[in-house]
Amino acid sequence: MALFGGRKTVFVDSDILVIGGGMAGCGATYESRYWGRDLKIVCIEKANIERSGAVAQGLYAINCYMGMQWNENQPEDHVRYARNDLMGLVREDLGYDIARHVDSTVHKFEEWGLPMMRDPKTGRYQREGKWQIMIHGESYKPIVAEAARKAATEVYNRIMVTHLLMDSSKANRVAGAVGFNVRTGDYYVFRAKAVIISAGGASHIFKPRAVGEGMGRTWYAPWSSASAYGLPIQVGAKMTQMENRIVLTRFKDGYGPVGAYFLHLKTYTQNGYGEEYESKWYDHTKALVGNYIDRHPVPTCLRNHAFLEEMKAGRGPIRMVTKEAFQDPHKEVVGWENFLGMTIGQAVVWASQNIDPKEINPELTTSEPYVMGSHATCSGAWASGPEDFAPAEYQWGYNRMMTVDGLFGAGDTIGGSAHKFSSGSFTEGRIAGKAAVKYVMEKGRDEPRVSEQEYRDLEKAIFQPLENYRVGRNEIVAGTVSPSYLLPIHGLQRLQKIMDEYVGGISTNYMTNGVLLNRGLELLAMLKEDMSRMGAEDLHQLQRVWELHHRLLAAESVTHHTLFREETRWPGYYYRGDFMKLDDQNWHCFTVSRYDRQTGKWTLEKAPVYHIID
Ligand SMILES: Cc1cc2nc3c(=O)[nH]c(=O)nc-3n(C[C@H](O)[C@H](O)[C@H](O)COP(=O)(O)OP(=O)(O)OC[C@H]3O[C@@H](n4cnc5c(N)ncnc54)[C@H](O)[C@@H]3O)c2cc1C
Repeated sequence: MALFGGRKTVFVDSDILVIGGGMAGCGATYESRYWGRDLKIVCIEKANIERSGAVAQGLYAINCYMGMQWNENQPEDHVRYARNDLMGLVREDLGYDIARHVDSTVHKFEEWGLPMMRDPKTGRYQREGKWQIMIHGESYKPIVAEAARKAATEVYNRIMVTHLLMDSSKANRVAGAVGFNVRTGDYYVFRAKAVIISAGGASHIFKPRAVGEGMGRTWYAPWSSASAYGLPIQVGAKMTQMENRIVLTRFKDGYGPVGAYFLHLKTYTQNGYGEEYESKWYDHTKALVGNYIDRHPVPTCLRNHAFLEEMKAGRGPIRMVTKEAFQDPHKEVVGWENFLGMTIGQAVVWASQNIDPKEINPELTTSEPYVMGSHATCSGAWASGPEDFAPAEYQWGYNRMMTVDGLFGAGDTIGGSAHKFSSGSFTEGRIAGKAAVKYVMEKGRDEPRVSEQEYRDLEKAIFQPLENYRVGRNEIVAGTVSPSYLLPIHGLQRLQKIMDEYVGGISTNYMTNGVLLNRGLELLAMLKEDMSRMGAEDLHQLQRVWELHHRLLAAESVTHHTLFREETRWPGYYYRGDFMKLDDQNWHCFTVSRYDRQTGKWTLEKAPVYHIID
C-alpha cells in the first residue's frame, strides 16, 4: 500500500478557527459567537475540551479577580502588581485590558454553575489573597467547556494541530492549519479567515526533578507541549520575553501548590535549623537587583533566590511550617482539600512518606523551569494591544493579533502579560475572539487562499515518522534502540538534558552564561537535524513526535532570548553568570525575536517598555 493509501483527508472551512480548547480557547469560541452570530466558528482540541488543558483536573482558586463591584481592587492595581512581580517588565496595555474585563468573566462562570465560596460575614467571594478567590472547582473545566460547545459551530476533539497554513496569494497572512486525528489517523485541513491560537504553554522542555520512577510528575500539565509557541514561531510570528521562564516553589516530590498555604493558612518557611532565612539574603540580593528587593510584595523570583542561596549555604531543607496552622481543624481541612481539588498527587506523596503536616513541617523545593505566558511570567507572542489604550508602537491593527496577519492569540500564547491565570486567559480569549470577528467582517470577501501543494507537502512530513518506524523497526539493536530512527521519548530526554545543562535548569542551579548558551544552541541544532529521523510506532507516538517539534522550537527560542538579554533580571528564575546583575540602564526593555523558516535563522531586537500606569 502506498504511504497515504488508507488515509482520509478531511477539509473543514471556517471563518474563525480556534486552536486549543482550554481556558483561552473556550473564551475565544464563546465570544466569537457573541459578536459573530452568523459566522462559522470551529474549535480544535488535541484532547477533549470537556477535560483538557491546565484546568483539566479542576482548580481550588481563581487567581485573577479584581472585585470591582466591592471596590476591592481596580485594574490599575493589578498592573502595578504584575509589573512589580516581573521586575518592571510587562506590557501594561495588555494587562490592563484583561484586568478591566476579568470580573465579568468570573461572574459568567458563576452564572454557568461554578460554585463559588463566599465569606459568611460579608457575602462577598471568599478571598484567598488579594487577587485570588476560592471556588469548589472540580468541575471548573466542564462548566467552561459547555459554554464553548454551545457557542461553536463545531468542536473537533482529538485533533493534534501540527502546522499553520499560510495564504498562497499574500505573504505573512495565515490561512488555516493542519493536523491529524489521534484516534483514526485521518488528516485534517482547516481553512480559515482568522486563526486564534490558544494551545497552551511549555512544560517538559527542561529536565524535571522527577525522573525514573517519578517520570511525568511535574508541576504544570505534561500535555502543555508548547504548541502555543511552536505554531506561531514556525510561521515567523514575533515572540517576546521567552527568556522569562518560571521556577516555582512547591511542596517537594508532589509539586503541590503553596499559595493557599501562605495566603489562607498563613503558614511560613524556615530553613533546616528552624530559622527564618529570607532576611539574611537582603544585602546580597540588593547588590544584584538594587531597589527591586524593597518592593512589596517581594517579587517571586527574589524569594526563590533567597531559598536557593540558603540551600547552597548548606542550611536546607527549606520547610513550610504547617504544624501550627494545622492545629485548627478548619485550616487542616482547607490544607488537604487544596490538594484534592487540584494536585491530588501531593496528598498521596505525603501519605506514602509518612508526612502528616500536623506533626511534621513538609519540605519544599524549587521546580524545573517552565514557559507559561498566562502564569506569573511573560513569555509568548508579541501582540497588538487594545485600540484605546496601547501606545502607537504596540498597535498594528487588531487587538491580540500577532505580527502575522489574521493570526490571534490568548492565554499562554500571548507574551508580556503575566498573572492572567485561568480567568484572565478566558478573558483574553474573549478579547481575541471579538477582535478576530472584527477582522473577518472588515476583510469581507478578501479571503486567504490555501495551496494544495503546501498541505500535501505537510501531510508527507507529518506522517513520515510512522513510515520511518515501519521501515526501520527490524533493525532494532537492543530494546527500543534503533540505528535508523529516534523515538519521541528519547528525543524529549535529549532536549531536556540540553536545556537543563546549558540553559539554566536544576542541575546547574539555574545558572548559565554565553558560552554555555552558544553550546546549547549547537546541540539543539543537532537535535533538530535528527528530527527528520523520528520514528512513531502508532498515532499516540506520532502525537508525541509533533509535540516534541513544538517543544524544540520553543526551547530554541528560550535559548536565543536568554543569550540576547545580557543581564540577570530575575535571579531565582535563572542566572547569567557572565552578567550577574540586573542592568536597568541597558535592559529595561522587552526582547523580541523572529524565526525565519526559510533560512532557519533567528533575529533578535529590543522593544521599549512603556509605563502607562503611574
Ligand atoms: C497545576 C496548575 C495549577 C494552577 N492553578 C491555578 C489556580 O489556582 N488558579 C488559576 O486561576 N489558574 C491556575 N492555573 C493556571 C491556569 O490553568 C492557566 O493559566 C490557564 O489554563 C491557561 O489557559 P490556556 O488556554 O492558555 O491554556 P490551557 O488551559 O492549558 O489550554 C490549552 C489547550 O490547548 C490544547 N492543545 C495544546 N496543543 C494543541 C495542539 N497542538 N493541537 C490542538 N490542541 C492543543 C490543550 O489540550 C489544551 O486544552 C494553574 C495551572 C496549573 C497547571
